[in-house]
Amino acid sequence: MTHGTTSPTLDYIRKLYAHEDEILRAQRSYLEANNRAIQVGAEEGKLLSLLVQLHQPKRIVEIGTLVGYSTLWMAHALPKGGHIYSMEKEGQNAEKAREFLHKAGVLDRVTILEGDAMHSLPMIEEYGPFDMVFIDADKPGYPKYLNWTESHLRKGGLVVADNTLLFGMAHLDELPPAEAQNPDQHTVRKNSWEAMREFNQRLADAARYDSVMIATHDGLSVAIRKE
Ligand code: MG
Repeated sequence: MTHGTTSPTLDYIRKLYAHEDEILRAQRSYLEANNRAIQVGAEEGKLLSLLVQLHQPKRIVEIGTLVGYSTLWMAHALPKGGHIYSMEKEGQNAEKAREFLHKAGVLDRVTILEGDAMHSLPMIEEYGPFDMVFIDADKPGYPKYLNWTESHLRKGGLVVADNTLLFGMAHLDELPPAEAQNPDQHTVRKNSWEAMREFNQRLADAARYDSVMIATHDGLSVAIRKE
């Protein structure tokens, strides 16, 4: 699961529609060099940018910064006065993200909070309710991140979540044992699978959300909160 997942069609899309600037390219190279190529693809970054331009969120929460690749796609598209609060568990990543975002000239629009998101999220609640939440973090955590989101996202706000196809396992009614899973893919554990099944089911509730999952290389869910 990498940006990383390449194919002639993805390359075609990326070349035509999802041009990366110098900093975005540097972020991707850094992650690839450090074997941490688990960020969104350029075409998903571009989609995030378009969603931000369409929705015009003033306050965005991102759960899972890594080194700020998706953060930068969104930061470039923010409306005037907009701000992104981004949560990153690992200190080294958070530091690197700040460095990249500073170089890109957007650090005045982004606050990176280091540590466990469930610890950091309460610290930003005073700035809510929020207009958009983007979840791209540890998979077992998705339901609890959605719980938080449901308490702090405004009505009409946008929920976006990455990896909701869960490496080709989310659609299966039973999770195959690790040895029967595709060896070329990340092994999916039961707690991740259960969490993603619950998350997708909840986001599909038409009484609460207007939503869809876009079949990107690992699934990108987009939902508008109805109530
Ligand atoms: Mg991801």
